[in-house]
Amino acid sequence: MMRWGPIRYPGAIFRGPQDTASIHLTFDDGPSPEATTFVLDTLKQFDAKATFFLIGKNVQQHPDLMARICAEGHLLGGHSMHHENGWNTPTPEYVHSARQSLELLKESRFFRPPYGRIKKKQHQLLAAEGIQTVFWDVLSYDYDAQMSPEQCLEHTRKKTRPGSIVVFHDSQKAFPRLRRILPQLLVHWTDMGWECRTL
Ligand SMILES: [Zn+2]
Repeated sequence: MMRWGPIRYPGAIFRGPQDTASIHLTFDDGPSPEATTFVLDTLKQFDAKATFFLIGKNVQQHPDLMARICAEGHLLGGHSMHHENGWNTPTPEYVHSARQSLELLKESRFFRPPYGRIKKKQHQLLAAEGIQTVFWDVLSYDYDAQMSPEQCLEHTRKKTRPGSIVVFHDSQKAFPRLRRILPQLLVHWTDMGWECRTL
């Protein structure tokens, strides 16, 4: 059972429509030079489109990478300025950080809460401004150094269904697993006839 759901967070997105042969890859915590470049090169090989939830401070450091993500037809979303945990952050501060991270992007209304931790009130205030909270239904665990790439691969392959929103991380921390699993998953999903699309 998910610890969050549409009743607690009305209007939030948890997965896409299930009646299509599409899935939605999402990449959090970038942009970072090595991982984001690898992800963009890999997605291009498979003609796959994804959504990137960028941390504001990383956008400020690597505006060129943000521009490349856009130029290659992917979608952007905000992920706060400094990866704040909503449960531990006062609401006005949190909402300000979310809003600021979106202002750095070109016309995005999508926000993914770091760790999936956002208070109901924080979600409500963002929703009132037309900002849509995006959760997920499949975690790749690429950030987890305790997991082998094989375990991440197997888990992600098993859990992903049509309409799934899958979380990866284009961060240096996740890169040892991400670089192994992303190409193999894309081969698998292409074989399944599934298309990777933006949200
Ligand atoms: Zn994150």
